[in-house]
Amino acid sequence: MAEIVIDGLGKVYPDGTRAVNDLSLDIQDGEFLVLVGPSGCGKTTALRMVAGLEQISEGTVRIGDQVVNNVPARDRDVAMVFQSYALYPHLNIFENIAFGLRLRKVPKAEIDKRVREVARVLELEEHLTRKPGNLSGGQRQRVAMGRAIVREPRAFLMDEPLSNLDAKLRVQMRAQIARIQRDLGVTTVYVTHDQTEAMTLGDRVAVMKRGVLQQVGPPQELYDHPCNLFVAGFVGSPGMNLICVELHEDGQTGRFRVRVGDQHLDLPESLLHRRPALRGYAGSKAVVGIRPEDMEDAEIVGGTEGATLTSVADLVEAMGSDVLVHFPLDAAPVVTEDTRELARDAGTDETLPATDDGVVLVGRFSPRTHV
Ligand code: ATP
Repeated sequence: MAEIVIDGLGKVYPDGTRAVNDLSLDIQDGEFLVLVGPSGCGKTTALRMVAGLEQISEGTVRIGDQVVNNVPARDRDVAMVFQSYALYPHLNIFENIAFGLRLRKVPKAEIDKRVREVARVLELEEHLTRKPGNLSGGQRQRVAMGRAIVREPRAFLMDEPLSNLDAKLRVQMRAQIARIQRDLGVTTVYVTHDQTEAMTLGDRVAVMKRGVLQQVGPPQELYDHPCNLFVAGFVGSPGMNLICVELHEDGQTGRFRVRVGDQHLDLPESLLHRRPALRGYAGSKAVVGIRPEDMEDAEIVGGTEGATLTSVADLVEAMGSDVLVHFPLDAAPVVTEDTRELARDAGTDETLPATDDGVVLVGRFSPRTHV
């Protein structure tokens, strides 16, 4: 096991495409770091440079105390798990898992012991004599994991290992990967475009956009304190409501307010206390960010003047435990969560938007509002 230190990493492909730009990450020994971002942001390229499958254009990668820029992939002592599983179709499951150990000339009895132990952990024991072609996607994925685990490498490098599985299996395997990584304590870099996977798996999450690292931190920190609009919108499902507003100071009351379409709202004092510099932006345009669940303490129209935002709901999505209610606003559509109560209060019980007065309160700017 080892720490991985990525310093000023860059990749320019031969055709001139810059895929990764000045990426620096310090991944602790035993840490689970998730690299996340939209398609094409460079996360796979970054991982492949760490694995030794892609030439490094700029910067360095250090694994343990060894700079590995010029070390071939097979000598880096890392195990890669791919989206495609990359199993050998002509070998049975036992031999697929044992492959790396045979290459390293591990004694036969030791191979047998280790493969069977891994097969037990991954519940693959009854499939050891079958070929990959006869297994389900989930089983193949477990074989790919088994092949990585059995080697006891210094690090796991995983590239979207769950994306070929259906939604239910994905959740099961996600939990299994988390358990295995925790039990083995192997430093892991995990690439995904799925922010839910990133948030649930990562000790820390690194968000990339167009080859550039945007923010790195524990999932909750990214959720509560996104460093920019991109991270704010990317992290969280349903995503943060991002509402275009204009900031202004009420000449008479001295209250600091925002204009949303034709509505005027006070910003919470707690927010102004946290961000006193905001007052300097009176007259400017801004984007207000409110998480859907922060709108749940909604009330009927007539709530505290200056603190509420009103709109007519135009779509209700029932998702079992949650109900999402969409409100069109001039500034941006807004989504709220946990609004059964809101629907009931509005006199509609389950079926928004059939309110008597045609207006439903969306919510107030909570102390967690971001500007
Ligand atoms: P995805 O989630 O779709 O796999 P990604 O974030 O992993 O995306 P990369 O595969 O690392 O992104 O690609 C980053 C950028 O580099 C993209 O613009 C891609 O088109 C480009 N790219 C990838 N491989 C090559 C290549 N061999 N030659 C030229 N450009 C490439």
